Amino acid sequence: TGIEELLLSRIRDVADYPEPGVMFKDITPLLADPAAFTALTDALAEVAASTGATKVVGLEARGFILGAPVAVRAGLGFIPVRKAGKLPGATLSQAYDLEYGSAEIEVHAEDLTGDDRVLVVDDVLATGGTAEASIQLIRRAGAQVAGLAVLMELGFLGGRARLEPALAGAPLEAL
Ligand code: 5GP
Repeated sequence: TGIEELLLSRIRDVADYPEPGVMFKDITPLLADPAAFTALTDALAEVAASTGATKVVGLEARGFILGAPVAVRAGLGFIPVRKAGKLPGATLSQAYDLEYGSAEIEVHAEDLTGDDRVLVVDDVLATGGTAEASIQLIRRAGAQVAGLAVLMELGFLGGRARLEPALAGAPLEAL
């Protein structure tokens, strides 16, 4: 479709970043292009509406850049899921494994309630580890997961299959 071509044309491949052998998908050209950024925001806001989401969770850091305008466009609240140690209030935290070592993400416990249906927004789905941990966090907060929406899915890394149990039927939309 037209929007796929527009979005793809604004994503830059950067070889050997952040380490040798990795082809990094750089979304900064897309953010700098108002037509592409607006089209992306509108498309993600449609996903939010179609899933019946009541809140948008953005994953640090590029998920903040994409998720915040989506929340405003869809008329929903925005909740940041941050790397450990950044949120000042009472948090729930979730650890997850990386290729080497582990990481931890957190959310303000009071930001999510049992009435919420949450759409998780991020830029790139790679192995799915970050998204999986965020879904676990949302469920532990007592909220429902409305779905996961990303700009781009790196299909060869198998994130979609990994996320199937965690999503439990909720949609995964990759634009
Ligand atoms: P995962 O946990 O799925 O392996 O990695 C996804 C996370 O790492 C996302 O938060 C995403 O922002 C970041 N990430 C991994 N690979 C890329 C990439 O090639 N480009 C961008 N922009 N982000 C990436």
